[in-house]
Formats: sequence, structure tokens, C-alpha cells
Amino acid sequence: AIPVVCVDGPTASGKGTLAAVLAEKLGYHFLDSGSLYRITGLAATRAGIALDVANEQAIVSLLRSLPIHFEGSHIWLANEDVSEAIRTEDAGMNASKVSAFPAVRAALIDLQRGFRKLPGLVADGRDMGTVIFPDAPLKVYLTASAACRAERRYKQLISKGIPTTIDSLRADLEARDARDSSRTVAPLKPAEDAQLLDNSDLTVESSVETVLAWWQG
Ligand code: C5P
Repeated sequence: AIPVVCVDGPTASGKGTLAAVLAEKLGYHFLDSGSLYRITGLAATRAGIALDVANEQAIVSLLRSLPIHFEGSHIWLANEDVSEAIRTEDAGMNASKVSAFPAVRAALIDLQRGFRKLPGLVADGRDMGTVIFPDAPLKVYLTASAACRAERRYKQLISKGIPTTIDSLRADLEARDARDSSRTVAPLKPAEDAQLLDNSDLTVESSVETVLAWWQG
């Protein structure tokens, strides 16, 4: 089987960074599965569709019609580069809302599995190890304390000139984690065979080394 390394975990745990570095080092493809939920939330909001369970089918129909293209680390919706637009806190919260709809999750399964190509894949998300690639030989569940995650996110946003506060970020990420963990389909939780890694006190480099050692072990 084509190898897959799954990197799952809560919001702002550093999954994206870890997964991207691993993909680069291993020469593998990279799937940022959260971007698919973010694009779905963005497109629905722009279409004026409330992210309400009553609109689940309308959101799925819209999703099926979306011309999504990946190009390196850039994501395109038709001829618009939406890489930045999907990264806002609002876009994250909207992604979390649409991701709780079972029909939205189902509509994205084949698209995600299609990323599994030679020589291999590193997949970043919430359910990579539990639902999308249950046979993956390595599943990492990355965590960090809420305080730590809020602080990292704060530094990122401030460095981009986006004003915010640590408290509001922490409240947002805890709300998002609570929704992601309590939904009925594919709730956020480690796969039974996942390796847990708390990176609160680790540099990116040492997290990468730890995972590479597991991979080679
Ligand atoms: O990882 P990211 O912050 O981009 O994900 C945005 C939201 O998309 C998450 O809060 C979660 O609700 C949802 N998501 C998901 N399953 C995935 C990836 C993301 O439900 N595999």
C-alpha cells in the first residue's frame, strides 16, 4: 500500500507546520484536509447560505460544484487564490460548523483519499487516522496545552499585523475543539493506534525528529 503519515490533533497544535516539514523531508505529497472544510465554509457564506443544519444539502450541492485546485501550498477556487481568505479565525470557525454535517464529511472522503499517491502522503487534519486512512502505518496525534496554542496563534497573527488578544484566541480555539470533539461523525480523538505527541515544550525541529524516528523505527 502507498504509505501515509497521518497528523491529527486539535486547533493550532502545530499540525500544519509539522506535516508540511515531514512531507518535504520525506518527499511525499501533502494534504491539508482542513482547507477543504474552510473552502466549503467560505463558499457557503459567500453564497449567502447560513451554516445551519437545515442547509446541509444545499451546502453539499454547492461543495460538489466547487472548482477547487491545489498548487503547491496555494489553493484556488476557480480563478481566485483563496489561500489567505480561508486562514482567518472566522473561516476556521465556519469550517468547524460545516465539518459537523455528516453529508459534508461524506462528500469529501474520495477527494481526500485521492491524495494518496506515490511515493507517499502526509495528511493533516482531525480524522486522518480514524476515518480517512485507517490503515496508515503511522498516525501521530499532536497536542499542546490551550495556553500554548493560543500564544503561538497570537504571535502568528500579530506578526502579520492582525490585531487580536490571547484571551479571545484561546476562547475561540476552545470553542472550536469542543465542537470538533462532540460532533457525532468523526469526532476529534486519537486513533486507537496513534502515537501521542505533546509539543508544548518542543521546537518544530525536535517534533520532526521524533516523528521521523517513529517512521524509520
Ligand atoms: O485544521 P484547520 O484549522 O484548518 O481545520 C478547520 C476546521 O475544519 C477544524 O476546526 C475542524 O472542524 C474541521 N476539520 C475536520 N476534519 C479534518 C480537518 C479539519 O473536521 N480532517
